[in-house]
Amino acid sequence: MTMMISRGFRALAKGLALTAGLVAATTGGASAEGAAAKQLFGGMKLPSRAAPTPYGFYSKGCIAGAVAIPVDGPTWQAMRLSRNRRWGHPQMISLLERLSRDAPGIGWPGLLIGDVSQPRGGPMLTGHASHQIGLDADVWLTPMPDRRLSAKEREDMPFTSMLKENKFLTVDTKRWTPAHAKLIMLAASYPEVERVFVNPAIKKKLCDTWSGDRSALGKVRPIYGHDAHFHVRIGCPDGAAGCKPQAAVGAGDGCDKSLAWWFTDEPWAKPKKDPNAKPPKPPRPMQLSDMPKACAAVLQAPSPDSEMAATFGGATAVSALAAMPGNANDAVPAIAAQMPELPDVVPIPLPRPAGY
Ligand SMILES: [Zn+2]
Repeated sequence: MTMMISRGFRALAKGLALTAGLVAATTGGASAEGAAAKQLFGGMKLPSRAAPTPYGFYSKGCIAGAVAIPVDGPTWQAMRLSRNRRWGHPQMISLLERLSRDAPGIGWPGLLIGDVSQPRGGPMLTGHASHQIGLDADVWLTPMPDRRLSAKEREDMPFTSMLKENKFLTVDTKRWTPAHAKLIMLAASYPEVERVFVNPAIKKKLCDTWSGDRSALGKVRPIYGHDAHFHVRIGCPDGAAGCKPQAAVGAGDGCDKSLAWWFTDEPWAKPKKDPNAKPPKPPRPMQLSDMPKACAAVLQAPSPDSEMAATFGGATAVSALAAMPGNANDAVPAIAAQMPELPDVVPIPLPRPAGY
C-alpha cells in the first residue's frame, strides 16, 4: 500500500478482505491490478457524485452519477434489497416508474422490481453478464401484492417460473394470464425501450396469442432463463458519447426462424468433450483494464453524502439499507456474495443467433 491509495480504495480493500479473503494489496492507484473488476465494483455502496453518464456497453461498462429507485412507490416495491442493485441512469429509473404507473391500467396492480445495476455499475459478484451501465432492469412476473412486503419477505419470496415443470419450453397456463402478456407488451411499447428479454416459451406464447398491435413484438427477444422475470433494456441516452449502442433489432415480430432455433436441440446441447483434452483454463475474469478507461475514474470518484441524496424522488424515498434488519450497511458485499445465482444465469453457448 502506498500513500497514493485513496480513502475509497482503502475502504474497498477492507470490503474485499471481508468478502473474499482477498486483500487488494496489489491495488496500485487506479489500475487496481490483480483484482477482478467484479470485486471492485461489487464493493461499492454508493454511486459517484457526477452527472449521470453510462460508459461502455451493457455487458462491459460502468455508470457515473447513478440514482436509486426508491424502495417503495405507489405502484412498485423493490426486491432483494441486500443486493444494493437499485441503481441506474435516471432515464431507466423513470421508465420503471412510468411502467409501474401504467401497469394498473392493463390489469397489473404494480411492479416487483428486481436488479437494476450496482451503484457504479460494472460486473457483479453474482449473476448477470449485463446490467453494467444502468440501462437494464429486471421486473418480476409476479404481480405486486396489495400490501407492503417486509425487508425479509423481499429477500425470501421465491421466484415463480411461468414454465411447466418437466415439459420442454412450455408456458404453464395455470400461472400465465393475459395481464402477463399485456405487461410485457406495454414495456416493449415505450420508444426508449430497445429490447425486452423473455424466455423463448414466453416469446412463443406472445407470438401465438397476441392479437393487439404487434409492432413492438420484435423488441421482445427470446433468451435463456427469464421465466420468472423479464428484462427491460433502454437505449443509450442522447448525448452519452461514451455509451456504446446495440444494433437495433431487425424488422418484423421475431416470430420466425430465430425463435424456432430455441426449440431445437442446439441451444441446449452440452458442449462435446474430448476425454483426452486437458481441462480448460477457467476464463480470466474481467479486469478494470479491460473496461472503458473512464471506469477507473468512476470507481475513485467521491460519493454523494448518503443513499437518500442519490435516490430518485429524494425525500419521499425509503432507504434500502436502513430497511434491512440490523442495518446491514457494512455487510452488503458479504450478503451479495452469499446470494444464490439468479435464475437467468446460464452459460450461453456459441454460436448463438445475432441480435443479443
Ligand atoms: Zn436482467
